[in-house]
Amino acid sequence: MQNVLPESRDIRIYQKLGRVDAKSVEAVDQLLLILPARPGKAVFSKLPQGARLQAVYRRHDAGSVPAFSTRLGNRRQTLVVAGTLSADASTFDQLTLARKLVSAATRQKAGSVGICAPGFDASTQAKFVGSVLSAALAAGFRMPELKSKPTPKKISSIRLLGLDERLDTSRIEAEASGNNLARWLTALPPNVLDATAYGTLTRDLARRHGWQYKRYSTKELDKLGCGAFLAVAQGNDNDSAGIVRLRYRPASKDAVPDVSLVGKGIIFDTGGTNLKPFEYMLDMHGDMQGSAVALGAFLTISELQLPIAVDCWLAITENRTGPNAYKSQDVIAAANGKTIQTVHTDAEGRMALADTLVLASRENPGLIIDYATLTGSCIRAITKRYSGIFTNRPEWHAELTSIGEHSGERVWPFPIGDEFMDDLKSDTADFLQCAVKAPGDHIHAATFLAEFVENDTPWVHIDLSAGDNDGGLGHVATKFTGFGVRYTLSAILDGNLLKADS
Ligand SMILES: [Zn+2]
Repeated sequence: MQNVLPESRDIRIYQKLGRVDAKSVEAVDQLLLILPARPGKAVFSKLPQGARLQAVYRRHDAGSVPAFSTRLGNRRQTLVVAGTLSADASTFDQLTLARKLVSAATRQKAGSVGICAPGFDASTQAKFVGSVLSAALAAGFRMPELKSKPTPKKISSIRLLGLDERLDTSRIEAEASGNNLARWLTALPPNVLDATAYGTLTRDLARRHGWQYKRYSTKELDKLGCGAFLAVAQGNDNDSAGIVRLRYRPASKDAVPDVSLVGKGIIFDTGGTNLKPFEYMLDMHGDMQGSAVALGAFLTISELQLPIAVDCWLAITENRTGPNAYKSQDVIAAANGKTIQTVHTDAEGRMALADTLVLASRENPGLIIDYATLTGSCIRAITKRYSGIFTNRPEWHAELTSIGEHSGERVWPFPIGDEFMDDLKSDTADFLQCAVKAPGDHIHAATFLAEFVENDTPWVHIDLSAGDNDGGLGHVATKFTGFGVRYTLSAILDGNLLKADS
């Protein structure tokens, strides 16, 4: 049977600094080249058999990706796959080109991949090589597979060629670990990753990485008054639902979290009593991707040993039909005492997150980021290329957008607030779970969630409309994208969010 955790990475990364000579190119089966927008002789002269490559380049169709591919006349017949990029290309464009080059190269036989970006200044070169490395680590990762004959692996080793200085790849590698874990967990079949297995694997990861682990069972959640989460969980066939809290503490064990990452972990979403039709239910094993992204980002932070205290909260349950399942018009009290009139049982994500946000915010973190494949309306609003972002600090909108540009995982801000609560007015409870007919469910969902963030904790909610996309997105070629890991690291390391409120 399938392991619930991926094998550890077995792709070695080598770096050969300075001039790209024939020998270092002959060491690779595929050479991925990023060239300037209009590369001249000076660029090609930096490469072995440069004149030949330039001749091939001259014949290429403008706008084609890859720009060209050809084999070198060396012993290994190295396959060269080249694309062009202007020096000021956005991170998203870099990652997209990188994905396409890696896909084109690894369609053929597996092997050792070389990466080279001649003709740019040192910092641009490092950035571009880093983007291609990210794409190669994503493509080289073996996703869950239960075939009787395993698919051969694609990439055995990666060589970074022609850099002036050694590239520090630790962040790229840690982000790859986090993104790969997120995609892996999301893609696991729902009968392999059930709620029990999910709880066990987080405990195993916690042991392995030295994180504190706590799982709130349905009994404990009942004592805490977490009626919203339990309303979803009560339809399950067994009692395996629960909320997991992981703690990463690099210094003081009792430190208040600087950041808490919260994820929606609906391991299969049937829609509940308001059952989804076939095609809408088909990929609903992926409805736990929010929790997988939270866990992936948490793993990345831990691998990098960042000097901040971080909590990770995973709301893990199925959303099933059955005689005990919750239904429309049920009135439910959440952990902060607020009462909710149920409208649609398929809006279970906000129910499961509501109590989790109460628990997370009561620990007074400096910032909460939550991740959820929450609404179809967010996809209809901004497609699957961006994810929607919402916050109780509207002055952060520009900063949140720019973190997305910087990381290559792009987000678009939407408003939330009291005026939208008008659409959630209820006669019998404090408010409705969702609006019966009004458009803009992604805004209502986020506005609803804000009701459960206690103590005015700074809070950012990411509706993962870019969480799955046929053909991949950015540097990732698989349908499930693991969107959010890079974004989170960028928010912590490159952005000003953590400094802003302290
Ligand atoms: Zn649902």
